[in-house]
Amino acid sequence: MPELKLFAFDLDGTLYSGEAAVSGAIKLVEGLRKGYKIAFFTNNSWKTAAEVLEKLSRLGFECRREEVYAASSASVRYLKEAGLDNLFVIGSPALRAEVREAGLRLLDDGFADNLVVALDYGFGYDKIAAALSILTRGGKFVACNEDPSFPAGAGKTLPGCGAMVAAVAAASRRRPDFIVGKPHGYMLSAIARDYGVEHGEIVVVGDSYESDIRMALDHGSKAVLVGRGDGAAGEGVLAVRELSEIQKRMGDLT
Ligand SMILES: [Mg+2]
Repeated sequence: MPELKLFAFDLDGTLYSGEAAVSGAIKLVEGLRKGYKIAFFTNNSWKTAAEVLEKLSRLGFECRREEVYAASSASVRYLKEAGLDNLFVIGSPALRAEVREAGLRLLDDGFADNLVVALDYGFGYDKIAAALSILTRGGKFVACNEDPSFPAGAGKTLPGCGAMVAAVAAASRRRPDFIVGKPHGYMLSAIARDYGVEHGEIVVVGDSYESDIRMALDHGSKAVLVGRGDGAAGEGVLAVRELSEIQKRMGDLT
């Protein structure tokens, strides 16, 4: 059994909910810092990692920019690594700015070579048409995530990045060539590389079995599913009702 070295926390529904930190979350992260490395990850494709860091800080979490992994900023990193440039980006102004700051070229029409799809509140027919043109000419199709929807507070649910990916996929009859967000492993592998730890030394803490826990199990990491009672989660997963139970039950993980 490898030693556990790093805790990677999902954000929405795990460490915070809307504009409030989950009870005990700040204390838990501070406590774990004494013995472990800490990383934060989110499938958020609208906000960049810098914006997510700003929220974490505002809610009272002590963290640094290098500890925050967002599907948005992780996509920019992937584009650089994969050598994909001349991009049409369906996404937020902040994501587009980050792509530009990374030294990549943005082309705002169907003449771009490659396509990136993130959450875009200004999504519409013209963007699907531009995307279709790129994919028809053989451009690469990079998706930030395939989350169909997300909770928007007050019991409201809004269409997610996956709804935009699905529209483009339907028009082009193509699946994304690469999906950055969870349950795929790109962010988890980036964390492992950046911190110099093995996947088996990482504990992923999240509130979604299909997303967070799936990512951990598919890539050889440990997992803690928060919000459910004991025994509901299956093999290789510690299920806890409250974050505060994690430290007491660390032994069950190894
Ligand atoms: Mg979550």
